[in-house]
Amino acid sequence: MSTETTGFNWEYAPAPEAIDHAKIKKQYELFINGEFVKPLSKKYFETINPATEQVLSKVAEANEKDVHAAMIAAKNAYDKYWKKLSGADRAKYIYRIARVIQERSRELAVIESLNGGKAIRESRDFDIPTAANHFFYYAGWADKLAYAFPNKKIESVGVAAQIIPWNFPLLMAAWKIAPALATGNTVVLKPAESTPLTALKLAELIQDCDLPPGVVNIITGFGAAGAAMVNHPLANKIAFTGSTDVGKIIQKAVAGTGKKITLELGGKAANIVFEDAPINQAVEGIVNGIFFNQGHVCCAGSRLFIQESVSEEVIQKLKARMQTLIVGNPLDKNTDIGAINSKEQLEKINSYLKIGVNEGLEIYQPDNCNLPKQGFYCKPTLFIGAAQSNRVVQEEIFGPVLTIQTFRTIEEVIEKANNIPYGLSAGVWTDKGSKIFNLTTKLRAGVVWANTYNKFDPTSPFGGYKESGFGREGGLHGLAPYVNLS
Ligand code: NAD
Repeated sequence: MSTETTGFNWEYAPAPEAIDHAKIKKQYELFINGEFVKPLSKKYFETINPATEQVLSKVAEANEKDVHAAMIAAKNAYDKYWKKLSGADRAKYIYRIARVIQERSRELAVIESLNGGKAIRESRDFDIPTAANHFFYYAGWADKLAYAFPNKKIESVGVAAQIIPWNFPLLMAAWKIAPALATGNTVVLKPAESTPLTALKLAELIQDCDLPPGVVNIITGFGAAGAAMVNHPLANKIAFTGSTDVGKIIQKAVAGTGKKITLELGGKAANIVFEDAPINQAVEGIVNGIFFNQGHVCCAGSRLFIQESVSEEVIQKLKARMQTLIVGNPLDKNTDIGAINSKEQLEKINSYLKIGVNEGLEIYQPDNCNLPKQGFYCKPTLFIGAAQSNRVVQEEIFGPVLTIQTFRTIEEVIEKANNIPYGLSAGVWTDKGSKIFNLTTKLRAGVVWANTYNKFDPTSPFGGYKESGFGREGGLHGLAPYVNLS
């Protein structure tokens, strides 16, 4: 309840998560061939806590020579050990990684929130358990590939170069590493420069699991290191999750090389509310869809479409719900919206807030929302009365910013929802199954949620259309990019 509706002004007492059990080293090296080694570049960069702007650690900056060393390690491990192991033996290692993630989940959740700014509730209840689930799920496939691809000769691809973004650091690492190992490939993975710490923790866990050296290599660095991975002749498969701009550069670099490639890129999802929808439930789904994880979600429901007859009711309820959202310390268990991941990302979001206002849109932010003085924070924001031509509707903002449009007919909303360069995900809220089926066949989106939003499961494939990329991760489909079939 908002203070407006109750008249009370009760606040939750702070409930900070303990952090003393999370061990972060002062300096991290590159994880190559089963060991932490100093970078040949001799360079390091600082990684910070975006909620406080304090330095957490120094991390090695890989250059081309370091990438080369990691690729050689992965290739040797592939030839010497991994491709010779039976599926059942590979499964034992992958299963072990899943168990160790579960055992160390509290520590991993805290480090994810410290380094990424996301609310501890998200890292604790979503990111880390879902990462473990991906390893469990793909451990199950390792000795059953013949059932995944019946009547085919199945061969692993070789070395997978995997590059991930900053919004779900450990989960994205799990999405990439688990299917690659299950299908018999070895890996060089690079986390994003702003969130390297849980991937480096994963490297420590992998060491604890006694994986043969070089099967998983984790290197840290910037775009140049990612480009060196993509261009390296030993990389047989490129798996990239990140922005559409970088995805296009990678696709051009890989063209004509014969390397396998999957691209998981940006999104601008439509979340569609019909007049027969369960409105209270829909409002929760809208809030979860865009304010969850500070809007740092490729599949965030960032464009809300409301059928005209219920638009006033939905907007009024949405505003009331936004008054209750707690923005602040990511490590407080009451926090709904944590810190924006970096200064650059906050500047980008703020520039879009200006663009929306200059486009003449009505802006709404809860008036009782006080942002912490230190760190990078943004209030949850609505742009009401938006139109298809607005830049805030067409471009990915990647923050807690929701545009609102209204519609009259199902044909109109399908056309508007699809009239966008992206096609990653969408949501629909209605009482009628026939409307759901109609929309799921006509919306050009890889995932369509009905009467829910942002639900993930390792058994379900995920991926996009159009500028959101191609290829699927998760589920049975997620095995295909890592095998050659004949
Ligand atoms: P980004 O493209 O800037 O960076 C992603 C990764 O690519 C980082 O590790 C970065 O160091 C690396 N990189 C940068 N330049 C490179 C180059 N030239 N060659 C190779 N690698 C390079 O993206 P970001 O800002 O970290 O992440 C946000 C973006 O990721 C958003 O657009 C979001 O929608 C997208 N995303 C998509 C999905 C999905 O599944 N479709 C999931 C999460 C995030």
